[in-house]
Amino acid sequence: MERIAPRRDVALMKGYHSAQVDVEVRLNTNESPYPPPLEWKQALAQQIEKIDFNRYPDRSAWQLRSEIAKLHKVEPEQVFCGNGSNEVLQAILLAFGGASRTALVFEPTYALHSHIARITQTNVAIAQRDENFSINLDSLVKEIEQAKPSVSFFCSPNNPTGMVDSPQVLDVGLKQNSGLVVVDEAYGQFSSFSALSLFDEELPLAVVRTFSKTWSMAASRLGYMIAPTWVVQACESVILPYHLDALKQQAGILALKFEKEMQQRVNELVDQRNLLFAKLEELDLQLWPSEANFILFRPLKMSGYRLWEELLKRSILVRDCSSWPRLDNCLRVSIGTPQENNIFIQALQEVLNE
Ligand SMILES: *Cc1c(COP(=O)(O)O)cnc(C)c1O
Repeated sequence: MERIAPRRDVALMKGYHSAQVDVEVRLNTNESPYPPPLEWKQALAQQIEKIDFNRYPDRSAWQLRSEIAKLHKVEPEQVFCGNGSNEVLQAILLAFGGASRTALVFEPTYALHSHIARITQTNVAIAQRDENFSINLDSLVKEIEQAKPSVSFFCSPNNPTGMVDSPQVLDVGLKQNSGLVVVDEAYGQFSSFSALSLFDEELPLAVVRTFSKTWSMAASRLGYMIAPTWVVQACESVILPYHLDALKQQAGILALKFEKEMQQRVNELVDQRNLLFAKLEELDLQLWPSEANFILFRPLKMSGYRLWEELLKRSILVRDCSSWPRLDNCLRVSIGTPQENNIFIQALQEVLNE
């Protein structure tokens, strides 16, 4: 019997991969090197006993949304949660993208924005960041006029370059545009500026955050967006019923009680990032300033791929971005524990000085 083929565009898609190799020093996916507080785990274990596992969870995730709303001083109706921020991005595109609509992205940037757009059959307009990987205001105006995007994606700090999109960029993006402006702030807590400061029920602005990075909860798959009520409602209408399981909802609610501990870990990682940056500056590398928990760098005297291989031989895994558009020879290192960062910098010195 003839087998049904997947959608033609889907058959051509490559999916999204990051190597999961067994190594001693894992600095490739921007996770937190620290586990969540032990008290959080214990509190969660206690909550598990209270969950009615034979019943569906709270479909509206109301308590979780209320706690997130308190954190950001907004209303629960302005909070939408998903299984990781990637599912939030997918809901946005299901609701506001789709056939005959366009999503605008500024490359180089997080590959999943355009990947999810394509899966939802949204056209992708690709604009380029300038040579410093910032978004030029004049070209921003032009790109929006041309593409007339239903959704414009900004990523701040931008993965993988580490830079923050300025308030002026977002301002122009919002004024120029009747579409939705999405700011992916997966690394927002590491940065000095957040688009949340612009948030307003009357503005078509959605700020997306995640528990995966700063909250040390990548395994929990929980993300959210702060957006006007009408954006939240549209996303709720495309999501599957009961998409957030009871355990995940409790994990998020309890995590928010440990905000101080989260902030301590963020401060520690920012200190480590600044230390590592200073050490990288002494080597034969091109570097980009970062406001996230990673640093993008390019070796000047050897190929990026070879450097990546040499680090891997020493059981250190960083992200190989060297085949991505405009990032030839670039690698991205996540900030680890002080010990991991030392092992990395010593190996790097060794390889580059060989
Ligand atoms: C890591 C990352 C995410 C996180 O995705 P989750 O689904 O929340 O784990 C989102 N956006 C960017 C830019 C990221 O780097």
